[in-house]
Amino acid sequence: MAQLRKWVAGGALGMMAVLIAVAQQRGRTPKTPELDPQIVAAVKEVSPGRVKATIEKLVSFHNRSTLSPADAASIAKGRGIGAAREWIRSEFERYSRDCDGCLKVEMQSFTVNPPARRIPHPTEIVNVVATLEGTDPANAGRIYVVSGHYDSRNSDNDNVTDPAPGANDDGSGTAVSLECARVLSQLKFPATIIFLTVAGEEQGLNGSRHFAQMAKSAGWDIEAALNNDIVGGDRSPQQDTSVVRVFSEGVPIAATEAELRQIRSLGGESDSTSRQLARYIAEVARTYDAGVKAMLIFRLDRYLRGGDHSSFNEQGYAAVRFTEFREDYNHQHQNVRTENGIEFGDLPKFVNFDYVANVARLNAATLASLASAPAPPAKVHLLAAKLENDSTLTWEPSPGGRAASYEVLWRGTTSPDWEHVQAVGNVTRTTLPMSKDNVIFAVRAVDNQGHRSLPVTPLPER
Ligand SMILES: [Zn+2]
Repeated sequence: MAQLRKWVAGGALGMMAVLIAVAQQRGRTPKTPELDPQIVAAVKEVSPGRVKATIEKLVSFHNRSTLSPADAASIAKGRGIGAAREWIRSEFERYSRDCDGCLKVEMQSFTVNPPARRIPHPTEIVNVVATLEGTDPANAGRIYVVSGHYDSRNSDNDNVTDPAPGANDDGSGTAVSLECARVLSQLKFPATIIFLTVAGEEQGLNGSRHFAQMAKSAGWDIEAALNNDIVGGDRSPQQDTSVVRVFSEGVPIAATEAELRQIRSLGGESDSTSRQLARYIAEVARTYDAGVKAMLIFRLDRYLRGGDHSSFNEQGYAAVRFTEFREDYNHQHQNVRTENGIEFGDLPKFVNFDYVANVARLNAATLASLASAPAPPAKVHLLAAKLENDSTLTWEPSPGGRAASYEVLWRGTTSPDWEHVQAVGNVTRTTLPMSKDNVIFAVRAVDNQGHRSLPVTPLPER
């Protein structure tokens, strides 16, 4: 902040803006998009000490299996999943007291009855939801979600008595959601952010599925969901703490037959809304000093494994999964024990709290960037009525009235990430002297402080 103020005083920011403008005219990706001082400060505010305290508290509930007791006596003893969710609720409420009641804290409860996978008896599943309502009525309908699952398990799905510490899986993701809530609730955003912790993940993504289905049936405009699951940075020697993997689906599971035909025809296999979100996160990581970079994995999830982001994908929402670079399977879904000198169990001592805090920083910077930005432009089209070597893009203005200008992005068809950006001003149509056959285009909205929307790839218009 002090450095930034010095730059402003010295006119360096103005010079930077000129350099960015020059770079944009040449169609290059600007090296440093404008930093939002509010986001810079929020990123700094994230605390490894708070992350550690949260994870240790979650572990103290002994066993957070979705099947573990949640009666009043167990809650009073501080044992089981009921005690864990009451504590999470009290944390969200505490953050809310520190922001004049800015968070709406709710327990979203439902019951799963057998026959159900890994749920042998009727079981109440509860999501704890904290909502930071957007301050701009024209933009508060746009929702950005960060989530982690607070349930845990040991070697046996049905074991609710032996320790299931779940420090990394997924105390770490729960801590990310809580820490984002603590830090971002001190700020105001035009769009809405939901801090979510879910249960029933280990039995089959029950909590997240319920939430995403509820959102879909209520017509919620969830523009992005960030799922954090196993972001503890397990302290194995082969760990790489400089990156966090960001998994995103390619061909959307929710695509209709007609959409699939279009994806095949246009080469859209790597341009789902989830993949645009993943690229956005990578750009945020290059812009803000979160202490960790995004390692984009162009795959729904780890090999033959699943997570809560897919519940959102199934309802047609953009969603990604954050996971540490290298998982240690001795420290997941294991009874706590030592065998042949090898320690098993998901214990706090294997978690790197500085790393979790860095992942929380990247999540917070992404949520803040998205919730500050204009809505993406609507109805983006690429004109294809006649054969020509120029490319003309059209779109409708970003709904909500926050866009001051637009940018066109493009990349080679074999390139993983955007390579070029062209500022085109406050227009809804532009023609670029290059063939649409050779590149992939997208358009994004920019506000007068430099916040960028998610980019939108065009549909052909005849
Ligand atoms: Zn998990």
